[in-house]
Amino acid sequence: MKTERSKAAFEEAQKYIPGGVNSPVRAYRSVGQTPRFIHHAKGSHIWDIDGNEYVDYIGSWGPNILGAAYPPVVRAVQEKAESGLTFGAPTEQESRLAELIIDAVPAISCVRLVNSGTEAVMSAIRVARGYTGRDKIVKFRGNYHGHSDGLLVQAGSGLLTGATPDSAGVPADYTKCTLLADYNDTSSVQKLFDANPDEIAAVIVEPVAANMGVVPPKEGFLADLRRITEENNAVLIFDEVITGFRLSYGGAGAYYGIRPDMVTLGKIVGGGMPLAAYGGKKEIMECVAPSGPVYQAGTLSGNPIAVAAGIATLEALRADLSVYEKMDAYATRIEQAFLDKGMNVNRAGSLISVFMTKEKVVDERSARTSDTKKFAEYFAQMMEQGIYIAPSQFEAMFISAAHAKEDLEQTLHAINSLRA
Ligand SMILES: *Cc1c(COP(=O)(O)O)cnc(C)c1O
Repeated sequence: MKTERSKAAFEEAQKYIPGGVNSPVRAYRSVGQTPRFIHHAKGSHIWDIDGNEYVDYIGSWGPNILGAAYPPVVRAVQEKAESGLTFGAPTEQESRLAELIIDAVPAISCVRLVNSGTEAVMSAIRVARGYTGRDKIVKFRGNYHGHSDGLLVQAGSGLLTGATPDSAGVPADYTKCTLLADYNDTSSVQKLFDANPDEIAAVIVEPVAANMGVVPPKEGFLADLRRITEENNAVLIFDEVITGFRLSYGGAGAYYGIRPDMVTLGKIVGGGMPLAAYGGKKEIMECVAPSGPVYQAGTLSGNPIAVAAGIATLEALRADLSVYEKMDAYATRIEQAFLDKGMNVNRAGSLISVFMTKEKVVDERSARTSDTKKFAEYFAQMMEQGIYIAPSQFEAMFISAAHAKEDLEQTLHAINSLRA
């Protein structure tokens, strides 16, 4: 496989951009390879600048659930662009997108549009704090909620109090209100509430964890979070930036039949444009300015082009909900192929991860037992066979509605041909 042009482009990029990329995982560091610079993508396929063609299982990390350059979405963007890229004033389309979101997601009856998942989560937490008048929040080890200061906290030392930041540049003071619990471990959450009575504003969780590889919730885990937060008058936030419109059209909340108080959305909701959202119960969302005292604003929020892409995407999904069954069936075949190879695999709907672990992955601790060298070898073999997957053990494989029978055959063949 030729990668000369990507190599040259990467060298050039490193002169001007930190590490040559605008988001770290794109640099392929953990797999020790040259990142592929992309030329274009269409449907389920993506082409790099050396002319290599791949079956795309990243899909821009989730947004491309309908495949890349889905014609109705592209048309909506082109048409809207003609009448102005941004106004900084309300448009009727924003209500249309809000309505689609509210119709889809049972927990949302009022919603604010923002520009990225990071911003959605950061804002939701501010609202939860404003609403409850409390400062502390609970997050789970191995869950990712964007790169805002207070959430860049992952693995402490198993202490049940306080937390230290994961990134340089984050004052420890900014994260001292972030308490850490273990995913799929209800008792770790209960302990935090027992130790911090009437002080916890919110529990934020990825209802299916997809940023330590895919880790589905154990039976009853989300229901336990619902119960504990209710008992303690804390806000339950589902971070559905990945799972929203993916696990089902109503997201993970609808899929598992649990209704959180707030939900954050991103990725799919913008149809490939920079758009995200946070919403929830009306009573909570009424705290947001100008209705209420919690400030949150954005020059490009509700951007007409992004909103048009979002509307076109949600309307297409809503018009054909059978895509969820189709993606599920496709993903089941891939899962089975990995199992037949004796590999350790987790799946939730159209999200899949293979783990280079001996044990089943249920939380961050077990995810960390992965042999990442082995993962790098697996990654290289898949890429060599034209299968474009995330260059990291701790990301998901995204199946889209555009993946076709021939893609499945090529992928199954690639999996069957993997050398141990
Ligand atoms: C991607 C992601 C975010 C951050 O979204 P950005 O748009 O990258 O800022 C937040 N939460 C979850 C669960 C995500 O997967």
